[in-house]
Amino acid sequence: MSCCDAKGLMPLSDTLDKMQKSLSNVCDKIVLPLSDALGFTLCENIISDKNVPSFNNSAMDGYALHADDLKECSSANPIQLRQVGKSFAGVPFKGKVEAGCCIRIMTGAVLPASLDCVVMQERCTVAGDVISFDHVPKLHNNVRFAGEDLKLGQAVLQQGHKLTPRDIPLLASLGIANVAVYRQLKVAVLSSGDELKSLGETLQQGEIYDTNRYSIMALLSRLNVEVIDFGIIKDDYALIKETMLQADQQADVVITSGGVSVGDADFIKEVLNEIGQIGFWKLAIKPGKPFAFGKLQNSVFFGLPGNPVSAIVTLYQLAVPAMAKMSGEMVKPALRFNAICNDALSKAPGRTDFQRGTYSVNEQGQLVVSTTGNQGSGVFSSMSQSNCFIVLEQDRANIAVGETVVVEPYSPLMD
Ligand code: AMP
Ligand code: MG
Repeated sequence: MSCCDAKGLMPLSDTLDKMQKSLSNVCDKIVLPLSDALGFTLCENIISDKNVPSFNNSAMDGYALHADDLKECSSANPIQLRQVGKSFAGVPFKGKVEAGCCIRIMTGAVLPASLDCVVMQERCTVAGDVISFDHVPKLHNNVRFAGEDLKLGQAVLQQGHKLTPRDIPLLASLGIANVAVYRQLKVAVLSSGDELKSLGETLQQGEIYDTNRYSIMALLSRLNVEVIDFGIIKDDYALIKETMLQADQQADVVITSGGVSVGDADFIKEVLNEIGQIGFWKLAIKPGKPFAFGKLQNSVFFGLPGNPVSAIVTLYQLAVPAMAKMSGEMVKPALRFNAICNDALSKAPGRTDFQRGTYSVNEQGQLVVSTTGNQGSGVFSSMSQSNCFIVLEQDRANIAVGETVVVEPYSPLMD
């Protein structure tokens, strides 16, 4: 289906494409100490400039020897070798090891070039400097070879890769003290609506607590962006305009929630039309139909729907991949798999549903998923209890118990 089909709804894939095509990386290169670089995105490829490990070494505490010296040995016919030295981690043995001799060696210690095998100490008998062996060792047994982890010239990590706790030790093993990454994206967040109150305030009749700013900022804190909190703005044209202009000055991205649906009484749309080029889209997804996207003078604007579940779903499914592109990050498709649905689900054809569920493994070892209940776009408790989206394709209708459905587990951003 193409963009904005007969019903005037824009399919999710078209929306994502449109946003990706209109965005580019806006974050400059900075250099950070490796210890501060977690969660930042590499701005250049990392190529190994050395072998890791850089020398052949022992994987065990024991004795390093020529395997050939023990080829005749057995429990009935033990062979004795003379220990002529020691190689400890960081303190290599410097001499020569003749045939019929061995050295004491510790885990991680340099294996002298002429030796080709380490026998663990539990498999030898020691009497002074005479070591007895009663089995034939395998060639290269307990030897860790230079470059067996990383080879000189090998591609290690690619530009656009966001550094995880698993990458930091890899780069440390290469001796990389400083790393070139893209700076953090600056993201301004604000809520607007006369009905919204900040935490700590008392609610009057018809008022609600601002929840979206908290969900948005919580998720953004996992994204490694700099958040600029503009608070709650009353439904006042001049105030909204002034705040939006300030946010545009200070941030690369401005995120609001609410005020973007058809026929809304809020002033957000009016202000956006005046100060930016913004598209007000109706998306073929549920929850999250109204969504605004476009450019202000200096920044990119995301107008999320006001209902709290719609706001977080559109932030996660649409704004997060868009911000990843703006941060120079390679966007990877989300992990999705099939699961058996434990519950009947209501679904009308026409939109892609992101229902909230919990996936698990049943007693037969099969992946199953259950709904977390009321799927209303204002019902946050069913979002809070879930660990995945149940992604129901656009054309799909009601789901019966036992049908196969697509499950998308939450990424660490949401989990
Ligand atoms: P709107 O699109 O502005 O009409 O908002 C749709 C619904 O979302 C209304 O029920 C609003 O009260 C609610 N809403 C808007 N912004 C927020 C917010 N920041 N936190 C919680 N609910 C909100
Ligand atoms: Mg509103």
